[in-house]
Amino acid sequence: MISLKNIVKKYDDKEVLKNLSVDFPEGKTTVILGPSGSGKSTLLRSLDLLVRPESGTISFSDLTLDYSEPLTKKKSFDIRKKTSMVFQNWNLFPNLTVLQNITTAPETVLKAPKKATEDQARQLLSQVGLSEYADRYPSQLSGGQQQRISICRALAMNPEYILLDEPTSALDPELETQVLLILEELSKMDQSMIIVTHNMQFARSVADKIVFVENGDILFDGTPDDFFNHPTTRIKDFLSGIT
Ligand code: ATP
Ligand code: MG
Repeated sequence: MISLKNIVKKYDDKEVLKNLSVDFPEGKTTVILGPSGSGKSTLLRSLDLLVRPESGTISFSDLTLDYSEPLTKKKSFDIRKKTSMVFQNWNLFPNLTVLQNITTAPETVLKAPKKATEDQARQLLSQVGLSEYADRYPSQLSGGQQQRISICRALAMNPEYILLDEPTSALDPELETQVLLILEELSKMDQSMIIVTHNMQFARSVADKIVFVENGDILFDGTPDDFFNHPTTRIKDFLSGIT
């Protein structure tokens, strides 16, 4: 489990995360919802230290960080290893082949042997239906295919959690479906995931847990059934598009 407690993040004087606490269970898919500007990306990025809150703690099963304390290189490395982020715009390395895009981080960061990383990369490519693309370059792939590769790249680091920030918002609807199906597969395989999305249908189908963020605060933390089938007045407005 990842446990955040009393997280405060400010930009200048503005608090964008307001003393929030939330747990992300292991082996489950947590979906973070909320209006634009509510703090979803800031929350997600706090988990892999792309964003550094002013105060609060993050705990993993074997490791706790108080964000207000100085961070050693070792601790930063240990925490970053726990999660892998998949970005909205997939940002693959254009000068590396698909296979190299997947193997480069495990080889350089984890010092994993070349043969093992290549075997794993081919296995991941077959899982997302892109085996025959191993030796191509990213520019020769569609957006949906590139996003599937970036999911492989995140999985290749063997993180405990995959973090996804609006993984399909840059894709056309038919390409979006390919990516969502893969995430649903991963969810069924009990891969721990934390997903920020604006796609309610997807949220409903994939979530084990819903966290609804508004104005840097958590307004709902519970089951998809409660969120979608027994919404509060505020959540009803959100779901009907009156954000
Ligand atoms: P969206 O759904 O539009 O992606 P979000 O819920 O992910 O929104 P965040 O990106 O977390 O929202 O932003 C939360 C608040 O923090 C917003 O008011 C935003 O303007 C502000 N903010 C985010 N990043 C920065 C930054 N680097 N500097 C200053 N303010 C920022
Ligand atoms: Mg965002």
